[in-house]
Amino acid sequence: MSKAEKPLILVCNDDGIFSPGIKALAEVADEFGNVEIVAPDRQQSAVGHAITVSTPLRSRSFMIDNRFSGQAVSGTPADSVKLAHNQLLNRKPDLVVSGINHGSNAGINILYSGTVSAATEGTILGYPSIAFSCTNFSEDADLSGCQDAARKVIGYVLNHGLPRGVTLNLNAPSGPLKGIRWARQANSRYVEEFEGRIDPHNRSYYWLTGKFQLLDQEEDNDITVLEQGYAALTPIQYDLTSYPLLRELENIQL
Ligand code: MN
Repeated sequence: MSKAEKPLILVCNDDGIFSPGIKALAEVADEFGNVEIVAPDRQQSAVGHAITVSTPLRSRSFMIDNRFSGQAVSGTPADSVKLAHNQLLNRKPDLVVSGINHGSNAGINILYSGTVSAATEGTILGYPSIAFSCTNFSEDADLSGCQDAARKVIGYVLNHGLPRGVTLNLNAPSGPLKGIRWARQANSRYVEEFEGRIDPHNRSYYWLTGKFQLLDQEEDNDITVLEQGYAALTPIQYDLTSYPLLRELENIQL
């Protein structure tokens, strides 16, 4: 296969273009095609699907690891994918991958995650897109199992594609891969979310902490699958409509 025929894989994340995780994902993507990295120029975790509308965006070219061409964007993960699609890539990507995030994006984290939102933006733009996260926050975490999972999932998606409107979200524990299981997004939330303190000028400030709470009883949820040592793979969608309730409510005249 000539270089031009290789799939183009756009790699993004939310931890910033210089995080170890994005390099780990680029290495796997490189086995399947030509890699272009377009990602935020700084840490952007938990910005969700935010986009920049009131300030200009800038991008700077970098070589990552002396190996991958990358563009650092002065915006959010969703900005980065939009800008890559619209301005920075020479051709349309065949696949968008985001991660490997340092920290879990299972359960309710999906909603807050910039990593997942970069992939979701890829889906909105019409590209098959996958988010990858490792449950270990440490930048030194062993990502080899998550890389193995990424290898399997990327191979599958390049061969089979994904239905329009659906993004894949993969979470893996650190260390060797035990296996991949399909899972639901766990019913979960954070409690006790702020710690209040007093600054040197005697003003109050608050720091988000939060304790993760699993509310799910069934075993097929992503958090429980991860606790059992497996990688959890969840198809997610940006259409937030509750269809069962809509069907019910359609009969009510307001
Ligand atoms: Mn992150």
